[in-house]
Amino acid sequence: MTARSRVVLALALLGFTAGAADLAAQRPTQRAPATRRPAPRPAAPTVIPTPRSILGFDPGDDRKLAEWPVLVRYYLALARASDRVDFRELGKTTLGAPFVALVISSPQNLRQLDRFRRLNAGLADPRTLRTNPAAQEALRDGKTIVLITSSIHSTEVGGHLTPAALAYRLATDTSASTRAILDNVILWLVPSLNPDGVTIVTKWYNSTLGTKAEGTSPPELYHHYTGHDNNRDWYAFTQVETQITVDSLQNTWHPQIVHDIHQMGSDGARLFLPPYLDPVEPNVDPLLVDGVNALGMAMAWELAGQGKTGISINSTYDAWTPARAYQHYHGGVRILSETASGQLASPVEVPFDRLQARSRGYNPRERSWNFTHPWPGGRWTIRDIVSYQSAGAYALLVNAARDRDRWLSSFLSVEWRAVRGWPRWPYAYVIPARQDSIELATLLGILQRGQVEIRTAQQSFTLQGQRHAAGTYVVVLRQPYAAFAKTLLEPQRYPDRRQYPNGPPERPYDVTAHTLPLLMGVTAVVAQDSLRVPLSAPVAAPRATPGYPGFVATDLNPVPRVALYRSYDAAMDEGWTRWVFDTWKVPYQSIVDSTVRAGKLKTKFDVIVLPDQSPQEILEGLPASRYPAPYAGGIGPEGSDALRQFVLEGGTLVTLNEASRFAVQALLLPVRNVLESVPDEDFYAPGSIFRAELDTAHPVARGLARETAAWFQAGPAFDVLDSSVVRVIGRWPSDPERLLLSGWVLHPERIAGKANLVEVRQGSGRVILFGFRPQYRGQSLATYPLLFNSLQLR
Ligand SMILES: [Zn+2]
Repeated sequence: MTARSRVVLALALLGFTAGAADLAAQRPTQRAPATRRPAPRPAAPTVIPTPRSILGFDPGDDRKLAEWPVLVRYYLALARASDRVDFRELGKTTLGAPFVALVISSPQNLRQLDRFRRLNAGLADPRTLRTNPAAQEALRDGKTIVLITSSIHSTEVGGHLTPAALAYRLATDTSASTRAILDNVILWLVPSLNPDGVTIVTKWYNSTLGTKAEGTSPPELYHHYTGHDNNRDWYAFTQVETQITVDSLQNTWHPQIVHDIHQMGSDGARLFLPPYLDPVEPNVDPLLVDGVNALGMAMAWELAGQGKTGISINSTYDAWTPARAYQHYHGGVRILSETASGQLASPVEVPFDRLQARSRGYNPRERSWNFTHPWPGGRWTIRDIVSYQSAGAYALLVNAARDRDRWLSSFLSVEWRAVRGWPRWPYAYVIPARQDSIELATLLGILQRGQVEIRTAQQSFTLQGQRHAAGTYVVVLRQPYAAFAKTLLEPQRYPDRRQYPNGPPERPYDVTAHTLPLLMGVTAVVAQDSLRVPLSAPVAAPRATPGYPGFVATDLNPVPRVALYRSYDAAMDEGWTRWVFDTWKVPYQSIVDSTVRAGKLKTKFDVIVLPDQSPQEILEGLPASRYPAPYAGGIGPEGSDALRQFVLEGGTLVTLNEASRFAVQALLLPVRNVLESVPDEDFYAPGSIFRAELDTAHPVARGLARETAAWFQAGPAFDVLDSSVVRVIGRWPSDPERLLLSGWVLHPERIAGKANLVEVRQGSGRVILFGFRPQYRGQSLATYPLLFNSLQLR
């Protein structure tokens, strides 16, 4: 131990001891545990297995990763040996692997888990705290509930191993700080939110060690359906991993603190911690924002005290979209950490002068208030990553334990305010039940999974001159998770943010809109004031099974042979399309580059779908300098020719969003993308919901209303150059003021009146060009029929 680290350790112990004394003073009436195990017979002390004893290496060893079954074996062994650790299998993943969590606390706490769950549930819904003593008991005896989740993004491989290192430390450490954590915190540790991806990435990594592909991402999505978008699912709940986490952990345990462990690029800060950048989504309780700010800064301070450099706060990541932050609407703070990456588990060299000079909110080469101690550059290894991540998680737990009283009382305040209702919030949303449909069932199902209480009107009533029948759904915005409902039911007004006055737009970290009634084509009406109608107790959302009738074969109408292009340069929209097809029972076959290049496509398929992907990725695919056959090279010129031939021979080519730019170029279609090479200053809409006008006489728009809402994100917009072969199916409104329904747009006049969905005839076939994403992240049910109909053109 160096003199310096001795000082650091001494200071940490001193600081901690004071905190523990405070806690003891505040809780003089600590009760005996409700149930006691019989006194254990004296036995040889159990040896707590090290990660190395099962994994065969220490977490952080260069070039070492473990597949999921091996990690699970470790967690099982750890739980068997330690009375501080319990192991739970919560369900199965998309590909059938066990989805697991560890619960870690003191042995006494683990014996009374159910009591702590009940105490915390009282704070989560203060309406159930019928007496003041009940509230006092929950505050006095409750524990800070912390949920730490790791490894949702499977190429961020430190996150595969950090939970093992953290769990081992908590199971074995006898320091005062660990004892205080175990006494005051109930930790739910999810070692991976995407176990399938742990194995996908590890297998790929191990198979490429020592080759040119070492350290590359696998040539497939690391979540079967969503890839990196798997952490954009925290309100739509489309994937089983999201559902398990929300149902079994978030909604059962109502954590005050959620810590999600991620990695970012190699050439910026070593670690990001909150505060987040603006904008913060306006329905998030201010006290939660304060909690995020305080905890993130406390963690950064502690890590800096341990000598860690290169920590940035208040940079890069904003807090706008609920897609990444379920807990912001459920009384908890979300602490995102992002550690710099290596090349998977292989080290990288990052000289100081290669640190990117401009990052959002700080400069990694310059000291600033939110980047106090620049990292000097050099070698960066998986040991560094595991060290930053583990120390960060531990610092979070130290704070969760030390500030237990504050976390619980703040949690109760947030929920009280939600139950009482915020001034100026509407009284309720009214959702007519007569629009009985899969869309309505999906929307209400989302609210219900988010623990929003849905009631029905027991008599008919009038709102804004409109009569609503008895049975109409009503979501009153005075309930614990009202903010979740309001955020998803109202249109977003994203602030107009620029890099400097009148300069280019400041990009949001994710998208800007999430209005479910628009995405799903469901009417939801704001009721500003009390409805003066009796309401039922909370009701269950209706159920409906997705399925599209068009794909049932008849003698006259055989099912079309649909191919879905699957690039090795794996595109998330391909995964989402596959998920939508699987869920809605659309028959299809996935095809790869070699199939496209081999040609004769019309003999095998009637329809080929190219999901949203850039022309360059489709054409060139992964680089041959890094990837071996068959993964490198894209469809290439032969593939382009084969697709053109397919159309000439009578096939239907359906291209989504950016893939439409590929089709226009490769097949020389007589339309012009008016947004080609237009800079952000001249047009910008980073994921927004637009109004679209449809020609319902065209079979692609059959059965839809003349106006719908469509998801716009980096799409093309078309001028027709030859109207003898191009038919416009959909347009953006010619009045630019009518374009934006939710989110943000700059210079809507650029695309006003332009086509967003066209059919181009070529030879005896056709191309259907989408200028929006009709099946956006499995959410835009309003426009699914446009995609389904285009698969069935004759
Ligand atoms: Zn990530």
